[in-house]
Formats: sequence, C-alpha cells, structure tokens
Amino acid sequence: GFGDAPRPERRVRLGVMGGTFDPIHHGHLVAASEVASLFSLDEVVFVPTGEPWQKTERAVTAAEDRYLMTVIATASNPRFSVSRVDIDRGGPTYTVDTLRDLRLERGPEVDFFFITGADALGQIFSWRDADELVELAHFVGCTRPGHTLTDPGLPMGKASLVEIPALAISSTACRERVRRGEPVWYLVPDGIVQYINKRSLYQPERSAEELPT
Ligand code: ATP
Ligand code: MG
Repeated sequence: GFGDAPRPERRVRLGVMGGTFDPIHHGHLVAASEVASLFSLDEVVFVPTGEPWQKTERAVTAAEDRYLMTVIATASNPRFSVSRVDIDRGGPTYTVDTLRDLRLERGPEVDFFFITGADALGQIFSWRDADELVELAHFVGCTRPGHTLTDPGLPMGKASLVEIPALAISSTACRERVRRGEPVWYLVPDGIVQYINKRSLYQPERSAEELPT
C-alpha cells in the first residue's frame, strides 16, 4: 500500500475569505482569484458571517440566503468552496473563531491565508485575540477602490499587502441598486441576479426579515 511511500512535502495552502456576502459580487471573486494565483493556493474557502445577535443599523439578509448565494457564485470554480462554520456557530463572527473552527476541521497539515480587504485590515488590531490570530494564519490585505492600503504594523512575515485589479463594487451599492430598480447584471454573477429576484431580496416594499426562512 501507500503506507511506506514518502509523503508529499508540500503543505496544503488554503485561502480563507470571510465576508457578509450580502450579496457576493465580482469584487469578492476577483480578489479571491487573484490572491489564489499570487500565493499558489490550492483552495479558497468562502466563509459567510453568522447572523448578528443584535440588530445593527440595517437588517442583514438571512444567513441561509447569503450562504446559498455564495454557493451559487463559487460553484463553477473547482478551487472555490464555502464553509458554514460561522453560520452554524451563530451570533457575531470573530475571525479568531473562524480560524480555530477551520483548523479543527482541516487538521494541522494546512497553511491558512486569511484574505481581507484594505478596509477590514485597518481594524485588525481592534480584533479580539490579535496575538492568537497571527499564529493561526498568514494575513493577505487586498487593495479595494476607495480604501487606502496601509501597513497595519503586523509582525514581519505574517501579513502581505497585494494589489487587486480595481473593481469598484460593494455589496452596499448592489443592494441600493436593487432597491432603486437599477440593474446589477455584471456586478454580480448571473445566478445571483436570478437568486435576488427569486427571493425578492433588497426590495423596498418587503424587508429581508419578513421573508420566510
Ligand atoms: P458591504 O458594502 O455590505 O460592507 P462589501 O462589498 O464590503 O459589503 P463584504 O462582505 O463586507 O463586502 O466583504 C468581504 C471582504 O471582501 C472584505 O474583506 C472586503 O474588504 C472585501 N471586498 C469587498 N469588495 C471588494 C472589492 N470590490 N475589491 C476587493 N475586495 C473587496
Ligand atoms: Mg464591507
């Protein structure tokens, strides 16, 4: 059998892309694809956030809808996958919990690359357990139109800053366009346009929380 065969030396390289994905758009997909190429990642797992405990300034779309949209948008890429760890844990998502759960799931033979936008990277030291975070993953900060990419002062070798081809797309802008009756074709994958219509997401007359779950 393979028992005595030399084991492959190369460790699995796993990108982890966290986000609300409300909805997922081409900015997310291009960022994941670009980091996967630059860092020779074997896989990028998209991790939609859980539902917040308390209402924030807006009602976030139901986790199952955000999860399904993320599955639809990533299904055609054999190196993209979706994890339910943050959704199944419930409550507000902390990156340290995401990485701990994925480590338990994937085992010790995997190197994690946490992919995050310039806007989120700026808050890295306000995150809980910042010291543990840098032990759990390498951090990749991506440029994003409208956000300056500055070195947050992470320890050397624990973070990289990369230039992503600029796509000035945000989920907020997509939601507002749908609300105003403007098209989101080509800002989000075709299947996401269809899913938004099917579930009547982001409509002014029917808020997401009134929809059946
Ligand atoms: P919202 O407008 O609701 O905040 P968003 O477009 O920022 O949504 P998130 O789900 O918050 O999307 O983003 C997940 C991650 O993707 C974040 O790290 C964010 O910085 C990054 N990101 C979002 N849009 C882009 C983009 N156009 N280019 C590069 N990175 C992006
Ligand atoms: Mg955002």
